[in-house]
Amino acid sequence: MNTLSRDQLLNEGVVAKLLRYVQVDSPSSSEGKEVPSTPEQWNMARLLEAELKELGLQNIKVDEHAIVTATLPGNVPGAPAIGLLAHFDTYPGTPGHGVKPIIHKGYNGGEIKLPAGPTLSPVSHPALAQVVGHDVITSDGSTLLGADDKAGVAEVMETICRLLRDPAIQHGAIQVGFTPDEETGKGVALFDVKSFGATAAYTFDGSVLGEVENENFNAKNLKITITGRNSHTGTAKGAMINAVQMAGEFVTAIPANMRPETTVGYEGFIHADSISGGAEQVVVKVLLRDFTDDGMAQKQAIVDDLLKGIELRYPGAKTQVEVTGGYQNMKAFIKDPRVVDLAMQAVRECGVEPISKPIRGGTDGARLSVMGLPTPNLFTGGVNYHSRTEWASAQWMEKAVEVSLRLVGLWAAVK
Ligand SMILES: [Zn+2]
Repeated sequence: MNTLSRDQLLNEGVVAKLLRYVQVDSPSSSEGKEVPSTPEQWNMARLLEAELKELGLQNIKVDEHAIVTATLPGNVPGAPAIGLLAHFDTYPGTPGHGVKPIIHKGYNGGEIKLPAGPTLSPVSHPALAQVVGHDVITSDGSTLLGADDKAGVAEVMETICRLLRDPAIQHGAIQVGFTPDEETGKGVALFDVKSFGATAAYTFDGSVLGEVENENFNAKNLKITITGRNSHTGTAKGAMINAVQMAGEFVTAIPANMRPETTVGYEGFIHADSISGGAEQVVVKVLLRDFTDDGMAQKQAIVDDLLKGIELRYPGAKTQVEVTGGYQNMKAFIKDPRVVDLAMQAVRECGVEPISKPIRGGTDGARLSVMGLPTPNLFTGGVNYHSRTEWASAQWMEKAVEVSLRLVGLWAAVK
């Protein structure tokens, strides 16, 4: 593994780290059965392990799932240990091999035409209007950039470097975690929260400047099987119970104001995600999402009532609901108010107004919070994730490092 020297790592800066990391291919794959889901993710795990060694961290571990953890000992006795986390896999649905990063220095506020075709414009990407004058980093347009989440990886590593460079900064033990398979939702399920041993942790996996995210959807994924009775269409009268007909009625009856395409903010939804089958039997996959338990129960009741109605209208038909997956809102699991309060304070003390909005999805931090490690999500400065027009602001990335340093400082001062 070709690693930079300790001095180079300490002094290259957060942007240079991002540029190096995005050039190491590490897409995950929804096809993969194991974690990591792709062998390429080991490239990042081994590189990060080598860098942590070069920097002299302690307890460096890479487990069989490519989860990388390490400790930077604190210099304030008794201060709580804080985790800093980022995922190193990149989204598999957009080309992610051979990323060629480009820095557009001093962005002028106009369009950015990428060599391979796509154009970023402040009209279709309004966040660009906030970064006029910044150095904007993109791919060449043929791939994603991979700032999701290598911006986060670079920021965590840079935080460690700054703490090593400046021993005057007070901090408790910093537990570093770099994880695979966030995009497939499988990585942190295998994270050993207990041996990580942090009081609280933060994922650096958000987007625009100032984001502090501590609530996300409750999610329940349903597999609904509607079983009818098939017969020859010529002699079907009084005999056939058509599952396609019943499934159509079910999907149509999902309230129009409770669908993903008609909801926003704190509104939950019932989403008919896929449908397959024939007259004999149809499987409808349905996603329920809501921020509250009550809202979730209400949506489940709507589905149950619709299915009951079908069984009543079509005697002989059978419906069956199976829960195939889901996750929970982290908010109820972050009980210590300091976890979010100190993050907000750190952002403010860096001269930025915190933005706190609900995540209409899940995060690694949500899973970790349920597992006992309260883990809100902080901004990285990367935008347009999962696309060929993904970009990151160098100045926002610097701010993320500043916030991270401030945050560990605030935790070191708690009594
Ligand atoms: Zn991410």
